[in-house]
Amino acid sequence: MTQHAVSQTLGPVSLEEIFITHELERRLRRPPDYQAENRGLVALARDLAHAPESILQRVTEAAMELCHAATAGISLIEQYEGRSVFRWRALAGVFAAHLGTMTQRDFSPCGIVVDRRQAQLAAAPERYYPYLAVQPPIVEVLLLPFFVAGEAKGTLWIMAHDEQRKFDAEDVRVLSSLAEFTSAAYQVHTGLATVVRKQAELERSNRELERFAAIVSHDLREPLRTVTSYTQLLARRYRGRLDYEADEFIAFTVAGAKRMEQRIEALLTLAHISTIGGEFLPVSLETVLEEVLADLHSQLQEAGTTVQRNLLPTVFGHAEQLRSLFQNLLTNAVKYRHPDRHPNVQINAAKSHDQWEIRVEDNGIGIAEPHKERIFDVFQRLHTSKEYEGMGIGLALCKKIVERHGGHIWVESKPEQGATFVFTLPA
Ligand code: ADP
Repeated sequence: MTQHAVSQTLGPVSLEEIFITHELERRLRRPPDYQAENRGLVALARDLAHAPESILQRVTEAAMELCHAATAGISLIEQYEGRSVFRWRALAGVFAAHLGTMTQRDFSPCGIVVDRRQAQLAAAPERYYPYLAVQPPIVEVLLLPFFVAGEAKGTLWIMAHDEQRKFDAEDVRVLSSLAEFTSAAYQVHTGLATVVRKQAELERSNRELERFAAIVSHDLREPLRTVTSYTQLLARRYRGRLDYEADEFIAFTVAGAKRMEQRIEALLTLAHISTIGGEFLPVSLETVLEEVLADLHSQLQEAGTTVQRNLLPTVFGHAEQLRSLFQNLLTNAVKYRHPDRHPNVQINAAKSHDQWEIRVEDNGIGIAEPHKERIFDVFQRLHTSKEYEGMGIGLALCKKIVERHGGHIWVESKPEQGATFVFTLPA
């Protein structure tokens, strides 16, 4: 069996001599074993849900078992050096070691099956396909094509290496239902591969972007510091010595440079979230919240804030980042309070499936529907600095922290009634 496409030397017999599909109907049909078949399909459905990455392999094992075959496999059509080939992508039984073997699409029993679009039985195929002269010899091979949206994607096949084992119409029936299943499994499998690839690409480009942001902000710091210190110097030395307008311009420049400095600091903090921190450790959110409440004590008290909460869990994470998460959410709950009432914040944790859902609910001004997503983007604010102080970095930071911990964050809100920031963390 070669790793590469084989030459087109024809064997001594014709194609029609090795394909004996008509025999299937003539042979005595073995009785169906519906129980075994049901058990097999249920197990496959379970595997598809729990371990989709190995589902093609599981299908071949099921085909081998249910059809009492010695070898089973799935060959998928792919492009190799500009040509269409079949690659053995899942194998079970005697030929399991030959995983990855390729055969030319135009010179392979799989090609015939796909062209004829139905089950085909071949006997001693090496008589026509010399590269199939293997040990133990292939006495019979039964192949079925499978399709996705009408397009052939590959074949599911079983082999007998024993003269006593002849495939019949019952094997075709069982293999047909498995071929249907293979089509679904194939879609999950290729979909999954695409998701994994896209995820890796995304992570790589995110890392690059972060590095870029860190470098740019770092490099901007130095010249900006020069601008800031000289404009401050200008302001000190020349205040009152030039005219009123000049004083005002200098003040704008100083304020602008300060804002830029703060933004650069903020960008650097954001870029650092994914780089610092090393290993995750058990962190008691109860302790984290206690510390944040103590830090914000005077701020909370000044606004007349009441805080209600249930017991928070211990999660795996980065304590400092989780502290920053609670601190940002609580500060915002107080900052964006409703002018007609004192702030009330309720913090609740509930476990659902394999994750914690933590809700930080306030009774503030709330957020209108169209802004619910963009507030998590960096520098996105719904108010001017005159109305509410801030830079639009807090929620971007929260989002990054939650995502780095394997969770999601979103907001639920009715304007004028309050906002609930909800985030999940793996349990
Ligand atoms: P900042 O508070 O510095 O503007 P954030 O990223 O923390 O930055 O918040 C982004 C925007 O989301 C805020 O400008 C505000 O409009 C809105 N927002 C955040 N938290 C709340 C809240 N609890 N209630 C109402 N609006 C909020």
